[in-house]
Amino acid sequence: MPAQRFLGGGFGRGAKPPSEGSTGSSTGSTKSSARPRSKLRPTIRYAILSDIHGNLEALTAVLSDAAAAGAGALLCLGDLVGYGADPVACVERVGERAAAVVAGNHEYGALGLMTLEWFNPVAKAAALWTRDRLDEDHRRYLDSLPLKVAFEEATLVHASPRQPDEWDYLVTAEDGFEVFGEFETRLCFIGHSHRPDVWSLGSSGPEYAGYLTAPRAWVRLEDGRRYIINVGSVGQPRDRDPRAAYAIWDRDERTVSIRRVDYDHRRAAAKIIAVGLPRPLADRLAHGV
Ligand code: ZN
Repeated sequence: MPAQRFLGGGFGRGAKPPSEGSTGSSTGSTKSSARPRSKLRPTIRYAILSDIHGNLEALTAVLSDAAAAGAGALLCLGDLVGYGADPVACVERVGERAAAVVAGNHEYGALGLMTLEWFNPVAKAAALWTRDRLDEDHRRYLDSLPLKVAFEEATLVHASPRQPDEWDYLVTAEDGFEVFGEFETRLCFIGHSHRPDVWSLGSSGPEYAGYLTAPRAWVRLEDGRRYIINVGSVGQPRDRDPRAAYAIWDRDERTVSIRRVDYDHRRAAAKIIAVGLPRPLADRLAHGV
């Protein structure tokens, strides 16, 4: 099974997650990897996931796609939980595999680290429901996640590199250009708006390409330029494309590509309704809104 490849080499570093429990479909006997490590190439291709939101069907499809695409390690930009019916399974799957994870506002909401008064009623209901699902181990793991972290030549942050716990949305051209001074690395990967997007700054001036969507859902990383790239959302895309979105960062080819993956959104929606979460959270999955 392709997902097993994730557990070699670069996967499994970082804070120790709670062990995987009885959380639905299994990724197979992935814990005893006996492959000789000397044959593993250094990681040059990263899968970057954000805004999974407890959608296990979308996450499973994305992990398979990333493994098939040759991703050697996983990075996660937060919002593992909130909205979807499988927060625990998503925390465990990502926690076991990711080389780096940062916290999103939905982690903060579920942990009680921020007031829910800014959440809309549906998001608030989901946060309170999620809070009741997390046990002490999950809470401790999520509580250990940083808000912003440098990983190789990239900064990882959920919303904005400027005051990450303000959870600002970077949406317009100006939103992005204003925060290039807030990180030191060449690249900054973000999520939060649930829409793939790119801003770039360099000697030939600022460039805002807008949404990263077909036919140009990728960026070539030019010498002398810096980039902020929104990788879109795995579990609740909002760009009218219901397929799960994530990015592959290929350090050899010097590209970042947004990939879209079909998954069983009907099953994810049915589970949301079955556990008693608000119905709009189920209905929107079919429309990518
Ligand atoms: Zn989100």
